[in-house]
Amino acid sequence: MTLVLDHTPPRETQAPATAFRPTLAGMSRARLAEAMAAAGVPQKQVRMRVVQLWRWLYISGATSFDQMTDISKETRQALEALYTLDRPEIVAEQVSVDGTRKWLLRLPKLGHEARAPEIEAVYIPESARGTLCISSQVGCTLTCSFCHTGTQRLVRNLTAAEIVGQVLLARDRIGDWPGAERPNDKGLLPDADRKITNVVLMGMGEPLYNFDNVAEAMDIVSDGEGISLSKRRITLSTSGVVPEIGRWGELSGTMLAISLHAVRDELRDELVPINKKYPIKQLLDACRNYPGVSNAKRITFEYVMLKGVNDSPADAKALVRLLAGIPAKINLIPFNPWPGSKYECSDWETIEHFADIVNKAGYASPVRTPRGRDILAACGQLKSESVKLRARDRQGDAPSPAAGD
Ligand code: SAH
Ligand code: SF4
Repeated sequence: MTLVLDHTPPRETQAPATAFRPTLAGMSRARLAEAMAAAGVPQKQVRMRVVQLWRWLYISGATSFDQMTDISKETRQALEALYTLDRPEIVAEQVSVDGTRKWLLRLPKLGHEARAPEIEAVYIPESARGTLCISSQVGCTLTCSFCHTGTQRLVRNLTAAEIVGQVLLARDRIGDWPGAERPNDKGLLPDADRKITNVVLMGMGEPLYNFDNVAEAMDIVSDGEGISLSKRRITLSTSGVVPEIGRWGELSGTMLAISLHAVRDELRDELVPINKKYPIKQLLDACRNYPGVSNAKRITFEYVMLKGVNDSPADAKALVRLLAGIPAKINLIPFNPWPGSKYECSDWETIEHFADIVNKAGYASPVRTPRGRDILAACGQLKSESVKLRARDRQGDAPSPAAGD
């Protein structure tokens, strides 16, 4: 059974418009210090207060200023007058029969925006780990022909706090903070007790086109005095923004995944059009030079299985040849169709045959099991349903670009 919760408050109960208060949840230490200073916290106290706030935000998962008992009431009130601890607002939460959860999230409207932008995040529990897939942009400027997000124009980059906010919200919803059942726990949640063990930047958007904010967010998520998720458990997926790959490795050092999807430039130009700018050879050179790449830190190559397009045995053999010498993992992704897409997913036997060739070349179990199919837990789909509904509601209104597909 699929559970669908609609958290949208009815219009008439929405609070009257008041001055916008940004959230502290998701901010870096430097931003928290600025926020404190703006709230009138004396400069000589700021450092200590940042340490306290940091622990409340990222170790305890505080959602209310009242919880922050080691901060004076006066300071808490001063902070609350200007800021909230809000996470992105949940528009809908879906839970799949297999435990996969998907959230459609609404972000605060920035000054110039006519409508509050929406993004999505997905949590995928597995026996030995739990992976949270988060978004880095609202929409995407790139137009990969098999990707639904590619049909949505870019609305904007997420701020670092909005990226971290997805992790905080997911931890709230699945109970992943040291809580009442661990009353003596003053420190970090031990790895064995974590539900979210891995974070992947594989939701909406091209993370390397929002480099600074994604880097700031991943520094917060991996900070050893906070959420403390090791960079080895964070994977950035890119369509191949070659000039930024090495810089990302130097500055952030997370694991890397490449959306390869084709072994010939001619086909990749069509599937992943950024290939026209940075062809396969340049992309693989950047991978060979990725800082820290080794057998212990392999690059994942994602390959979406499209029926009759890129799924022949010859493609599989060419893939293996292409990646020779690069410490690599191969991830075959069954194509997740969306309304209006011009591709079909390869037949299961074709995928198995392809996987066999890849397996024999030494890559272990490369097929990603489809998860959350009943809730369309793939790139862009929940979002588009909501846009479509809204377009229908607004009779006579011009549909948004995403509504037409
Ligand atoms: N922009 C980045 C990260 C987001 S997409 C990138 O392109 O890598 C995350 C992954 O989902 C990519 O490998 C992408 O190619 C894949 N993907 C997109 N649409 C898909 C679909 N309909 N079915 C299966 N995989 C898809
Ligand atoms: Fe953007 Fe990635 Fe989708 Fe391509 S696959 S359109 S880069 S989100």
